[in-house]
Amino acid sequence: MMKKVVVVRFAEIGLKGRNRSDFERALVENIKKVTGKSVEWRWGRIYVETDWESEDISVFGKVFGIQNYSPAIITELEYGKIEEAVLKLARMEVAEGKKTFKINAKRPYKDFPMGIYDLNRDLGAAVLKNIGGLVVDVHEPEFTVGVEIREEGAVVFSRKIEGPGGLPVGVSGKALLLLSGGIDSPVAGWYAMKRGIVVSALSFVSPPYTGKESKEKLIKLAEVLKGYSGGKGVDLYLCPLTKVLEFLQDNVPRKYMLVMQRRSMMRIANKLARNIKAQVLVTGESVGQVASQTLTNLSVIDQASDLAVLRPLCCFDKIEIINIAKKIGSYDISIIEHPDVCTIFSPKNPSTRVKLSVVKEIEKELGERLRVVEDEAFSYIEKVVV
Ligand code: ATP
Ligand code: MG
Repeated sequence: MMKKVVVVRFAEIGLKGRNRSDFERALVENIKKVTGKSVEWRWGRIYVETDWESEDISVFGKVFGIQNYSPAIITELEYGKIEEAVLKLARMEVAEGKKTFKINAKRPYKDFPMGIYDLNRDLGAAVLKNIGGLVVDVHEPEFTVGVEIREEGAVVFSRKIEGPGGLPVGVSGKALLLLSGGIDSPVAGWYAMKRGIVVSALSFVSPPYTGKESKEKLIKLAEVLKGYSGGKGVDLYLCPLTKVLEFLQDNVPRKYMLVMQRRSMMRIANKLARNIKAQVLVTGESVGQVASQTLTNLSVIDQASDLAVLRPLCCFDKIEIINIAKKIGSYDISIIEHPDVCTIFSPKNPSTRVKLSVVKEIEKELGERLRVVEDEAFSYIEKVVV
C-alpha cells in the first residue's frame, strides 16, 4: 500500500469538550463537499485521498478550519515501504533544487519495532545513498521529511502548506452580510466566514441608475465568497432601493441623508434576516473612513437594527483591507467602476455627528409614508442563487 493523501491539520487551541468534536465533524463535512472526495477521519486526524501529483490541492487553502495541510504518502508499517515513500518525496524536493534535509520521525504508535533514533538514522542514510548531491542539516534544512508512525500506517510528507485557519463554516450560525460593490464589505464577509459563520448577502441596488453590470459585479463578488464557504454557498438577495432613496431625498435635510439611508437599509436587512433565520448583520464599515463611519453616526445607524451588527473591519486601515481583498480575490472585481447606490444619492457634505433624537424626530414625521416605501422595497427583493 502506498496511498497518496492530503493530511489536514487543525488547531485545537481554544476548542474544548463538545465544541471540538462539532468542529471536527463540520470540517470533515466541508472538506468532503469542497473536494468531492472520500475523507478518512481517524483519531482526530483527517486524510483525504488525493493524487496530489496530478491534482491541484490549493482548494484546501480555502477551507476555514484548516491550520495547515500536507501532500503525503501513507504506507504499511514496514521499514522498506516507509523508505520507499521517503525516497520518493526526497526526489521530488531535489527536483525543485533543494540540497539540505533532515528526517523527522515521530512514533505515537509504540508497537513499531524501530525507535525514532533508528528511523532518523536509517532513513537519512538511505536518502544519502540513493540520491546524489544532498547533505544532512539538522538545524536549518531546506526540507524536512516527516515520518509519523501511527496505528493506521506510516504517514510520510515533506511539505506543510499553511491553511486559512479559523473555524469551519457552519459551526457559528448564520449572518446576513450587507454587500456593496466596494472593497470593504466582501472582506468583512470573508472574515465572518472565517469564524465559522454561514453568510447570505443583501445588496441594495437602484435601478435604473444601477444596471446589469452592477448586478453582475455583485454576483461575482458573491461567487468569490462562495469559494470560501466550505460548500455552503452564498445566497445573494438584491433589493431595489430607488424609491426609498428618492423619498428620503425629497423629505430629509441633506446632511442627514446618508445616515438615514443606512437606517432604512438596516430596517430592511433586519426583516430579511428574520425571514432567512440569520442571527446577526455584518457590514464593511471601518471607523473614521468616511462620514457615515464616525462613532457617532455608526451608533445612530446601529440603533435602527434589532439584530447585532458585526463590523469585522472596524479597526482596520484601508491599506490592510485592500491587502486582504487582493489575497482573497475580490479586489479586482471591487475596483471595476459601476454606479453604486451610495455614489448616486450621496450628498456632498454629510454630517459626521448626526443626532439620534433629531433622526428619530424626522422618521416619526415621515411615519407611515417611510414605512410604505421600505416595505415596498422589501417586497421586491430578488434572490439570486450563486
Ligand atoms: P464598501 O467598500 O464595502 O462599499 P465603503 O467604504 O464604501 O464600504 P460605505 O459606503 O459607507 O463604505 O458603506 C458601509 C457599509 O454599508 C458597506 O461596507 C456595506 O456593508 C454597507 N453598504 C453600503 N452600501 C450598500 C449597498 N448598496 N448594498 C448593501 N450594503 C451596502
Ligand atoms: Mg461602498
